[in-house]
Amino acid sequence: MIHLRTPAEIEKIATGGRIIGRLFASLGDRIVPGVDTETIDGWVRDFVYSHEGATAAFKGLYGFPAHACISVNEEIVHGIPKAEQVLGEGDIVTVDVGVKLDGWYSDSAFTFRVGEVDAETQRLLDCTQRALAAAIEAAVPGNHVGDLGAAVMESLEGENLGIIRDLVGHGIGRELHEEPQIPNVGRAGFGPKLRAGMVVAIEPMIALGTDQIRTLDDRWTVVTADGTRSAHFEHTVAITQDGPQILTGAPSEAEASVESV
Ligand code: MG
Ligand code: MG
Repeated sequence: MIHLRTPAEIEKIATGGRIIGRLFASLGDRIVPGVDTETIDGWVRDFVYSHEGATAAFKGLYGFPAHACISVNEEIVHGIPKAEQVLGEGDIVTVDVGVKLDGWYSDSAFTFRVGEVDAETQRLLDCTQRALAAAIEAAVPGNHVGDLGAAVMESLEGENLGIIRDLVGHGIGRELHEEPQIPNVGRAGFGPKLRAGMVVAIEPMIALGTDQIRTLDDRWTVVTADGTRSAHFEHTVAITQDGPQILTGAPSEAEASVESV
């Protein structure tokens, strides 16, 4: 079933979500050549657990062994952090983090550049962020789930990129993964109707080459079938009468200064 949340419940999800927003804001400068993905996982753990009551929701979920899913270059999602995976100049690395706070989940992912990236990689990052923004813009009451996928497709028209269709976004709240599924391809006007109070994780995953995927022998890491690079940006978003509300953003300067008082 699809749950509708009250404004107070949405604010609780946002309280956890802002932890991820601040975490990602703090990671940009630290993700540099020579850093390994297990170290990044440690930064995620330390940051999340420095907030009273907050836990890293992926740890142990379905048996996942780390605090964050960390995926490098051709790895799309569910990468397992490891000390021997050292980032090099020009790599890209996706950090996907879930926070559970007070019984409510939030979920967000960001693909970081390691040093300077080539123009094709930058195009991939720009297009994927634009796809997420387009889908969020379509997340308004009265639209349908298919409008989000349609918005992703439309935003990428003519770019010749692979939209990963075997992996989807999801409703989120008391559980990390709730109904409805949020595919990154769709037809406007189709699928469940969006209503005020729905909270969804929107997460386009886009590849430079094929949209086909495979899973590595570790049974977690999903990679592009042709080995081309992929990017992944995700926000937890509330659908409200006033429009889409991003719950996993970093607080604005004003809010941040209030918080630090
Ligand atoms: Mg995620
Ligand atoms: Mg998600």
